[in-house]
Amino acid sequence: MPSIDRARLTMLLDREQAAYTDNHPRSRALFEEAGNLFGRVPMTWMNMWSGGFPLYLDRATGNRVTDVDGHTYVDFALGDTGAMAGHSPAATVAAVQGRAGDLGGITTMLPTADAQWVGAELERRFGMPLWSFTLSATDANRWAIRLARLATGRPKVLVFAYCYHGSVDEAFALPGPDGKAQSRPGNVAPPVDLAVTTRVATWNDLASVEAALAHGDVAAILTEPALTNIGIVLPDEGFLSGLRELATRHGALLMIDETHTFSAGWGGATREWALEPDIFVIGKSIGGGIPCGAYGISREVADAITRHTDAGDADIVDVGGVGGTLAGNALSTAAMRATLGEVLTEPAFSHMTELATTFTAGVQATLDEFEVPWSVSQLGARAEYRFARPAPRSGEESAAAADDVLDAYLHLALCNRGILMTPFHNMALMCPETSRADVDLHTATFREVVGALYA
Ligand code: PMP
Repeated sequence: MPSIDRARLTMLLDREQAAYTDNHPRSRALFEEAGNLFGRVPMTWMNMWSGGFPLYLDRATGNRVTDVDGHTYVDFALGDTGAMAGHSPAATVAAVQGRAGDLGGITTMLPTADAQWVGAELERRFGMPLWSFTLSATDANRWAIRLARLATGRPKVLVFAYCYHGSVDEAFALPGPDGKAQSRPGNVAPPVDLAVTTRVATWNDLASVEAALAHGDVAAILTEPALTNIGIVLPDEGFLSGLRELATRHGALLMIDETHTFSAGWGGATREWALEPDIFVIGKSIGGGIPCGAYGISREVADAITRHTDAGDADIVDVGGVGGTLAGNALSTAAMRATLGEVLTEPAFSHMTELATTFTAGVQATLDEFEVPWSVSQLGARAEYRFARPAPRSGEESAAAADDVLDAYLHLALCNRGILMTPFHNMALMCPETSRADVDLHTATFREVVGALYA
């Protein structure tokens, strides 16, 4: 297979960079004026966009984003899953307008009937009977980890190398030379040595999971059903059922984070692949872009928690219940009800998955045509290419295939041709309004920009 000519890559990247700068004077000026923002952006991760400055949003609907320079893009980033329902879906907007406008009461500390409706719908999809709400998936993970510790009386969380679960301190870990968890390079100011809170295993390696669990101090295995934050790394046949079996055998809970893998289907990978989590976490997409998150627990976990609260050695109402004052607020629950009830429906998932399958085939055709040593992986409505072939089977293998220059070239070249891909990823997500023509545009453009590299 031909390898990339790095000089040619640099030349192509410079050309794309110049075009990006020339075509976005207004975005660039706004960025340069933003002297009161740390890093010149509302949140420092927004500097992940390639090109030296981010595009500034003018407006977005469905799968179209328009920037302040008047360019409209086909958006496959979809807010890194936050906008999987499309931008400003009509049903969500109507519910939010109703709650914020005529009804009034955005956040009151009082429940609304929407919350039970959402809890019942989440049970129908994902199977967990009891739910609590947060305002982000990070916060749902943090709370669920606390409850797992309380329920099991154990201190540690088992995660996989190169996982991502939001800014959850326990999860920024890699296996060290002695097998103990150590902080992942780039991690920001861990509060304690990672070995105190975390055990780390390798994805698709059940022996590494068993070795970590054998210490008897793991409260929960925290994982996505497929890694999605280091490319998409799919589980081998039997890996997830093996995790379930090992968790049960070693007295640990299985905590499944479906914030991204919800793309697998209407009931996430949990329903598609008949997973049996003890704790389930989701966020981002279920509120149609309005901040929300949720975690579901089994009755057994609820009973284990209640034993402590009844005994008075833990208080989840006052002392330990005061996180997230705005959690479960009326606006957020109205948005979840409308988004789940009317937008992210079963027919919507069928449409989105069919398009992602076409997208994946289009990418594969270019990889085959130019004999490019990359791979593409699909998980329902999302697909991602990675610079390794065959597709990596672990976080470590996938991390080794990273190529920042190549990433920047692809992101900028696609952006300059009217296509937005997710920063942090080479990920494309379909929403209910994505069309076959949008996917075909990507297929043709991907062929053009990859062809330029290999010509
Ligand atoms: N879990 C997973 C699997 C994620 O990918 C992310 C964010 N990318 C989160 C949790 C955290 O989501 P948020 O940043 O919305 O809290």
